[in-house]
Amino acid sequence: MKYCSACGMPLLKKEDFAKGDESSEFCLYCVDEKGEVKGAEDIFEGGVKFFMEQVGTDRGTAEKMVRKNMSMLPYWKDKDCEVLKGEMATDEEFEAILKKF
Ligand SMILES: [Zn+2]
Repeated sequence: MKYCSACGMPLLKKEDFAKGDESSEFCLYCVDEKGEVKGAEDIFEGGVKFFMEQVGTDRGTAEKMVRKNMSMLPYWKDKDCEVLKGEMATDEEFEAILKKF
């Protein structure tokens, strides 16, 4: 299975891919209209909303979860992103929240 390089979302069907292009490494949410990958702030914010709406966490927990998730993805490793600095969920917290899906 493929996952989006920028947010970790599973890419299950054609429509999940950026621009519906199955050779893309990114999901439809992580690129703009021009097909360029969005900045860390935008992707971070999208992830925070996802956790708050889909999992029902508060904003603080959602931010810690997204920071943890994005910091595990190789795509962000060599990028210096302010938004990824700060408190992060522990492995235990991360696992516990992912189980709620
Ligand atoms: Zn994505």
